[in-house]
Amino acid sequence: MRLVILRDDDANATTPLHWIQACVGPFVDRGLPVQLAMIPEVATDIRLADGRLEGFLTGPMAGLRRVVPISANTALVDYVRGQRLLGVVQHGLSHRIVGNRFEFDEADSGKVAQWLDRGTRCLLDASLPKATTFVAPQDTLSRGGFTEVRRRFRQYSTGWFERSRLPVALWPKLLWMRVNEATAVWKTEGITLFSHPGCLLSYNKPVNSMASTVIDHIRNQVCTVLVLHHWEYWLNGFPDELRLDVLAEIAEFLEKSRDIEVVTFDCAAERLG
Ligand SMILES: [Zn+2]
Repeated sequence: MRLVILRDDDANATTPLHWIQACVGPFVDRGLPVQLAMIPEVATDIRLADGRLEGFLTGPMAGLRRVVPISANTALVDYVRGQRLLGVVQHGLSHRIVGNRFEFDEADSGKVAQWLDRGTRCLLDASLPKATTFVAPQDTLSRGGFTEVRRRFRQYSTGWFERSRLPVALWPKLLWMRVNEATAVWKTEGITLFSHPGCLLSYNKPVNSMASTVIDHIRNQVCTVLVLHHWEYWLNGFPDELRLDVLAEIAEFLEKSRDIEVVTFDCAAERLG
């Protein structure tokens, strides 16, 4: 049985509910679980290098210099709490970029520990379930941060593993995995690490080949973390129907494939242990 974990990133206090529903709907309507990597307390003035606001910020709060907890988005929180197929993953704290440094690329592990605990509290304050999986913004986590994540979470999901960001004790295993090209899931002391094949569903990819690329990848892996960003389907406020159709095509494939199961991070960690 091949496993697939569907992960949608960046849900936050400014996210319109219909943005999320349009992207997760094709999956949950078919009984397939989706894991929402939610930003606990979003900074509403995050700007990219070219000065544009982050694509996941929208509405009247976008651009204001403040942080807003996820509990402020009652429509989204109520929807997530009422939809048993949606899981909650902790995605950073505010997703802030300071200078050119991403939020969890922070060497001071004391600070990272505080931010992790604050993020967990924000999710719990919104009456969301306690997340057992962490995703660092921009897939960037310092070595000290990794140790703090390992103390608090059962799973860590990221794009790739960098030797310099992992404890020295894990380097031999990383080397072994690279030599054996076995890099998707890695169970180590106290935590299961999941890598993903990049954003195969990115809006930068040609729409005509997106579904076949994803399906080919899933068919060749024991476990695939499939990452999407709902806001990429709503650029300029209008739905990208062509790309939403791709999600529906993938959902249909997953539903019909008898040798593929869509699962949570907890479930995958248990099954692959
Ligand atoms: Zn993100």
